[in-house]
Amino acid sequence: MIAKVITDLALDREFDYLVPPGHESEYAVGGAVKVPFGRASRSGYILSFSERSDFDPAKLRMLEGPAADRADIPPNLVALGKWIAEYYCASQEHAIRTLLPAAVRNGKVRERKCRVYFVPDHAAAAKYLADHAEDARLDKRRNVLRLVLRRPDAVRSEYTADADYSAGAFDALVRAGLIASREESIAPDPLAGVEPVPDAPLSPTPDQKKALDMLEEMERTPDGPHVLLLYGNTNSGKTEVYLQAIAKTLAHGRSAIVLVPEISLTPQTVRRFRARFGGNLSVLHSRLTDRERFDEWNRINSGQVKIAIGARSALFAPFRDLGLIVVDEEHDGSYKQSESPRYLARDVAVMRGKLEHARVILGSATPSAESLYNAKQGKFRLCRMASQVADKPAPIIRIADRRLDPPPEPGVSNLLSPMLIDAVRERIERAEQTILFLNRRGYARALCCPQCGYEARCPECSVNYNYTYSRSRGVLSCHLCGNIVPAPVNCPQCGSPEIRYLGSGTEKLESVVHAVFPDARIGRMDSDMMRTPGDYEAVLDKFSRGKLDILVGTQMIAKGLHFPGVTLVGVINADQGLSMPDFRAQERTFQMLTQVAGRAGRGERRGEVIFQTGRDSEVLQFAANLDFDGFSKFDLEFREMLDFPPFSRLIAVIFKGEDEKAVAAYAAAFAAELQVYKHDQVRITAPAPAPIEKIRNQYRYLMTIRGRKLKTIREAVRILALHRTPPAGVSVAVDVDAQDLM
Ligand code: ADP
Ligand code: ZN
Ligand code: ZN
Repeated sequence: MIAKVITDLALDREFDYLVPPGHESEYAVGGAVKVPFGRASRSGYILSFSERSDFDPAKLRMLEGPAADRADIPPNLVALGKWIAEYYCASQEHAIRTLLPAAVRNGKVRERKCRVYFVPDHAAAAKYLADHAEDARLDKRRNVLRLVLRRPDAVRSEYTADADYSAGAFDALVRAGLIASREESIAPDPLAGVEPVPDAPLSPTPDQKKALDMLEEMERTPDGPHVLLLYGNTNSGKTEVYLQAIAKTLAHGRSAIVLVPEISLTPQTVRRFRARFGGNLSVLHSRLTDRERFDEWNRINSGQVKIAIGARSALFAPFRDLGLIVVDEEHDGSYKQSESPRYLARDVAVMRGKLEHARVILGSATPSAESLYNAKQGKFRLCRMASQVADKPAPIIRIADRRLDPPPEPGVSNLLSPMLIDAVRERIERAEQTILFLNRRGYARALCCPQCGYEARCPECSVNYNYTYSRSRGVLSCHLCGNIVPAPVNCPQCGSPEIRYLGSGTEKLESVVHAVFPDARIGRMDSDMMRTPGDYEAVLDKFSRGKLDILVGTQMIAKGLHFPGVTLVGVINADQGLSMPDFRAQERTFQMLTQVAGRAGRGERRGEVIFQTGRDSEVLQFAANLDFDGFSKFDLEFREMLDFPPFSRLIAVIFKGEDEKAVAAYAAAFAAELQVYKHDQVRITAPAPAPIEKIRNQYRYLMTIRGRKLKTIREAVRILALHRTPPAGVSVAVDVDAQDLM
């Protein structure tokens, strides 16, 4: 018998080994094994068995034995991994790697604390980057420093997957004090030591009963759809449906997975599941230590717990008797993984459900166009939860058209419209609270000189206005590459002191609000402000205890927060996202607006929402009328007209490299090779500079493939991308079902 084994070398290649005769029973699909490889010994996983090999059987080598120090992959997950590798054009090694947490895969559990890294002194970092900009020997260090600037407060393992990571450079920067770390203070289990009050299932409302009945019917008809799209506003009772469906699944002796966006994995959420299911629940969040992750994995793998809740990767919880997967907020962008394999957890959940005969619930107040389309096509069942459990009137939403405002007085910022100013004033007088939302951090986004026309921009990236100016820290930072430089006081070109800052972020908004309402107590929440998780909680705590009148923030405050005292929400630039060159811009804007609007009026008083805009937009009208059905009809028509997903499938291929000519040439050659697979159902755009043409001196060319029957061409793309070596310095990334085209 021959075992097909995948090693940890990313070659996208299985190797054949003989199973030692008489020992067949010691090996199974997914088993971790030791194999001879060259002159060394490596570990790998068995993907399948076969009677035959394409190689000369006399030359095949023998498996050395099971790898005792490593965990086996449950066989059902091996099948899922194969599908991920194929569908998402990823190497099999990358796909297999996502199935197991690093701690489990490596078999080594380092007893270490959850340590997160950050850049303690931005001014020092800016100086370091500027001083060594020319020194090629320090390239790696600069890349690592910028990686940490871009993505602060992450654990080490979150950096290691990045192309910019280098262990040596990382350690050197830590020694030099440019990168610092601290032990994460969040308790691994948000409820450690707290015994939640157990609660019992509520008696279902008619909508909930309908949903539960549909799930039972799906169970009885295994040939029909296995996915239920649960479409209902906040407070329509979706979570209660999840809870009861899980209880039924457990009663049938099977297990359940609940996926939520990381940002929604709050103590509030966990408490609700704990109250119903007690210790039968494993909570998988990103800040678990290796040890904890290892333990949770083993608790699931050994059947000690029957429910796992967590973000994206919880989908790979090693249950062997899965009965249900819940994907809450199924439309959420965080379900897409940005590195290989670039999978979309919602779709992989649907596939895992199919492979393991489990049902899947996709829940959302604003379902994705893809899921609605699948429901229309009969692939998913649709359950509309139309009534609210707690009958709350929807907020009143008004649009402040900035073009109708009187011109602002000289020297006065016009960030706030008169309509919004009046509404905030009323709230302050009535001792109610306001949230002001602006999806851009920093003080300003452009710095220019009116004397000579100089405009500051990150030289290594291409988009205009890629710098964000932080006044409090006195630096300009590039939101694309993380580069930071000291902010100039005078124009670097002509020396004029009249340098101007244009465009506004939350830091500026805070100062403007302060100027307009000098007596109001104002808090701000954005990634600049939040240096530690403690900061985050401190602001929220103040706000929830009524110690702040106004909370200013970015998307950090858009989701999930529940503040009964808030009766007004103002969206400063409601039309901001609409001009993105991306066919999902409308959908994202609508989702964002409804989400933010949902923060108003959660208490006794009815909420009010004001969208400020500088243009007409149907999307804003639909959002202001809380008309999701109208919006989705409009959006689907637009996509159908242009033949975008969900009416077609989309694969994006990105070519990157420092030498633009080489990138363009390789992209063209790649595209040319694909032409033979093209048929009349497929459209291939010629490779061209991506909307973001350059990041960190890497030119980026984008090619898209769209069409209905993409299987053949996807296989061709996969082989070209994985098995063809591009010229030195050029790299290729394939993004199947890409969620953005920037
Ligand atoms: P969603 O997940 O759609 O936002 P939830 O399931 O959280 O909705 O329900 C909203 C609120 O209504 C919660 O406070 C919940 O406890 C309550 N609720 C849900 N279902 C019922 C029910 N059948 N009877 C009474 N209260 C309910
Ligand atoms: Zn100048
Ligand atoms: Zn940059």
